[in-house]
Amino acid sequence: MNFASKYFKYLLLSLLVLSIIMLSGLAVVAQSNDDNLGVAYIRPRTLVYARGNFWVYADNAFDDSQKRLIRSASEILHDRMRTQRSRILDCAYRRSNRFMPASRQRIDSQLISVFVNAASGNRPIKLTTTDLWTAPRRQPNGVTQYNTGRAPIGNPGQFPEQGDLLRVALNSVIVDRTFSDFPQARQADRWAGTLVHEVLHNLGYDHERSGSTDGAFVKEFGTCTAFNGNIPDGLQLTDSNVEVIE
Ligand SMILES: [Zn+2]
Repeated sequence: MNFASKYFKYLLLSLLVLSIIMLSGLAVVAQSNDDNLGVAYIRPRTLVYARGNFWVYADNAFDDSQKRLIRSASEILHDRMRTQRSRILDCAYRRSNRFMPASRQRIDSQLISVFVNAASGNRPIKLTTTDLWTAPRRQPNGVTQYNTGRAPIGNPGQFPEQGDLLRVALNSVIVDRTFSDFPQARQADRWAGTLVHEVLHNLGYDHERSGSTDGAFVKEFGTCTAFNGNIPDGLQLTDSNVEVIE
């Protein structure tokens, strides 16, 4: 064996080892990356709330008390979207300064489709909450990030005519758990706000992916829902060392 072929053999071997390292690295990333949530929505789940055409399922990864909180949040949300929707829209428009929907009428008719009227015939709108597992993260600057929920960004106009499944990931590390700096984790009103925030993402509404989302319509609509459209003036919803991501 001459020097060149020996060198070539080592080169091939190195490439093989490098490929294995890269592939296993990708696999690890895929497992820990919550963008992989797509398949999570078909895991075993329980119907926790059904009123009219609005049905909510919860992943069985949530324990019974978490499921009860999700049911309470769903009930609050359904009730407020049927009876207080206009007031909550007013509240969100008043507080928002970024990423506003182009038309109030359009977003209102989408909310009516999900929470008030049947989508087509009597087909229910099914909302599935799956389990997003992300521990609160303490940043070097002292800010703790609570990742409460996530959702895919839908294609505006395609829902509910072409699909009836809303996908919402809630974080079982946070739901109904006790945090001294985030007591809202145990409050159904707060989770009603998170649910509707994620529903709006499903309906095609987005906000900035990095940095603060305060002032973004989707964020403010969730907050206004949590407070039933009546947020006390000057209320600090989170203190300076807490950041809520949803
Ligand atoms: Zn969001």
